[in-house]
Amino acid sequence: MTQTPETISYFPKVVPADRLSTIRVAVLEPSPPFDSSDSYEVAAYPMEETAGQLHAESKKAVKTWCADGSLFLSHEFISEQEHLLKIEKISACGRQPIGEIRIYSLSKDLYALRPFKGDFHMHSSQSDGKEPPAHVAAACRRIGLDFMALTDHRKHAPSLEAIAAFESVPLDIMMFPGEEVHSPGNRVHIINFGGRFGITPFFADEEAFRALVQQRGRKLKNKLEPREKEQYAASVWCYDKIREAGGLAIFCHPYWVERERYNVSEPLIAQHFEDCLFDAYEVIGGFHRHQIESNCLQVARYHEERAKGKKIPIVGVSDAHGCESGELFGWYYTVLFAKCLQLPDIVRSVKSLQSVAVEALPGEAPRVHGPMRQVKLAHFLLREIFPAHDTLCKTEGDLMMAFYQGDKTAASQLAQLQGQTKDYMDRVWGSEEK
Ligand SMILES: [Zn+2]
Ligand SMILES: [Zn+2]
Repeated sequence: MTQTPETISYFPKVVPADRLSTIRVAVLEPSPPFDSSDSYEVAAYPMEETAGQLHAESKKAVKTWCADGSLFLSHEFISEQEHLLKIEKISACGRQPIGEIRIYSLSKDLYALRPFKGDFHMHSSQSDGKEPPAHVAAACRRIGLDFMALTDHRKHAPSLEAIAAFESVPLDIMMFPGEEVHSPGNRVHIINFGGRFGITPFFADEEAFRALVQQRGRKLKNKLEPREKEQYAASVWCYDKIREAGGLAIFCHPYWVERERYNVSEPLIAQHFEDCLFDAYEVIGGFHRHQIESNCLQVARYHEERAKGKKIPIVGVSDAHGCESGELFGWYYTVLFAKCLQLPDIVRSVKSLQSVAVEALPGEAPRVHGPMRQVKLAHFLLREIFPAHDTLCKTEGDLMMAFYQGDKTAASQLAQLQGQTKDYMDRVWGSEEK
């Protein structure tokens, strides 16, 4: 599906379903503006055919008028779906195509939310990544992320260092604390996203930690073998503790192949999905091209478990260990739908199945995984909406990088840009005047 040509600008692009909406369409220079002495015809094609109705038959004429060089369209976009609108100019010489635009109509619940791009899992040079924390944060904005957390192995402090580096700078990217948790004797990797405190210090006294795990394990009913029973109890203890810290507990990359075997054993994976005591499942993890099979397995497992009726919140993450290496960073991320971008909104969004995992490898069309409604919408957003958002973010990311590298004038430039991505999304949603 092609993107709307850049010669046409139109807003809003996302509208409430089953209500009259007005779209303003402008033609960009050097094309002549819309002229009220000409007549225009617009036909709307909903993407989803209704029973027995062919595409051409489902087309509806759209009411139009011209003002101030723009063409205004008034139309009721039926049900939640994408619509293609074909604009033609009618003159003595016949019909002349002006262009096509795409609109997405949303039911009330999703229309009330906004899309945000983010990455829950990545590393800096404070563990085994390449660049320092502040560099990683700036690089995240450069690639269009609205939120991020640095999650170094066994370290919560680097994520705070990234946040502190930009403390005095007005920014729209939301940076959260985080760490990748490895509890003693447990092969399961866990992300503590947003937790007020790190949970690694609880492992310092291993004996005391094992006692806590045993205690937690006694409350868990399962038929795991003793070794796995302990690993499982340790994982559940970590999930509980992360929630206590106010964070989101993520079950990481079970099908990562490490030392000739999957990272997590099959009985442990099965028990994880049986109980669903984690907050989110890393359905798309940060795998290199030769490891893509691991993501295929994680996706297949997700569908298999969903088919059993399980509700499984998901995230997509880069697990990048370098921002400038051309690998992983920006390849995988999450799009979530939330009211705004505070930590409780993000946590609520993921837990209420309003997030999707995106694979966007260089040179390939993006692939989105998750619940059907959100996947369909996310594909539209990735094609029609996010490219302009990402361009705005790139400028901010470059300025963040300049600031971090010592150019303190970048802070005032960032202050001027604050709010620009929100303004853009407000225009897309047609709610800028509310
Ligand atoms: Zn890991
Ligand atoms: Zn990691």
